[in-house]
Amino acid sequence: MRGMTRVLGRTRLKAMVSETKRRSILRTLGLVAAPAGGGAQAQDPYARAREALLKDIEAMARDTGAETGRATFSARVMAAIAKVPRHRFVPASYGALAYANQPLPIGHGQTISQPYIVALMTELLDAKPGDAVLEIGTGSGYQAAVLAELVQQVYSIEIIEPVGKNAAALLQQLGYKNISTRIGDGYNGWPERAPFDAIIVTAAAAQIPPALVAQLKPGARMVIPVGAEGEVQFLHVMVKRADGSISTQRSLPVRFVPLTRSN
Ligand code: SAH
Repeated sequence: MRGMTRVLGRTRLKAMVSETKRRSILRTLGLVAAPAGGGAQAQDPYARAREALLKDIEAMARDTGAETGRATFSARVMAAIAKVPRHRFVPASYGALAYANQPLPIGHGQTISQPYIVALMTELLDAKPGDAVLEIGTGSGYQAAVLAELVQQVYSIEIIEPVGKNAAALLQQLGYKNISTRIGDGYNGWPERAPFDAIIVTAAAAQIPPALVAQLKPGARMVIPVGAEGEVQFLHVMVKRADGSISTQRSLPVRFVPLTRSN
């Protein structure tokens, strides 16, 4: 029995570790380069780029802290950014830039936001694990995925049908079960699912849409870029206080595609 177990064990072990062992032997001999950060890197070709991105976001958070009030982002938000595979949300032709700290085109004249902005907006939402969050402007689905790592339920609306359908299919493929998407004009919010603990708008509005303010729970927050087309936009953080009164704070200047209307 013992002998047999050992033989079986050895055979299985041999099959399982042979590739790792082969590479480690070659490495010892100096015939292949060692992966920079250990074993995980060998499995994930984006690991280094992702790590560099997290450092860049942290540096930008420090640099903009005076304007945003958040010189460091919470560990929860950074972990969500670290976890979501951004390379799956960018067109294949931009794969090499998937973890660069910059926005990228996703087709139909739309963009996936800069990772630092995604992190900042997520941070400013102060979302808690039990929250229901509404996003206007699904785009690639990346921001929705980041939120889905942090809260109970994400609702996301996209106005361009093929963009929304594409994101919905990808989010399903990636196994996100707590994101509901729909095609429509997010200016009106999602009354059937309201009220929300937080609302994030990822397209720039000339004014804050009143329907969205109405769909915030007391104590809830909205993060939204505001600025007329052609003018400088600023990120705004709106808080609906427990008594229903509203306070709005202006944060960083930003650049988003416009929030369009369906009419
Ligand atoms: N959050 C996205 C980035 C969004 S870009 C991401 O993580 O990739 C802005 C998106 O808002 C675009 O896809 C645009 O089509 C959409 N949009 C613009 N106006 C809209 C509206 N009124 N309702 C819903 N979506 C809108």
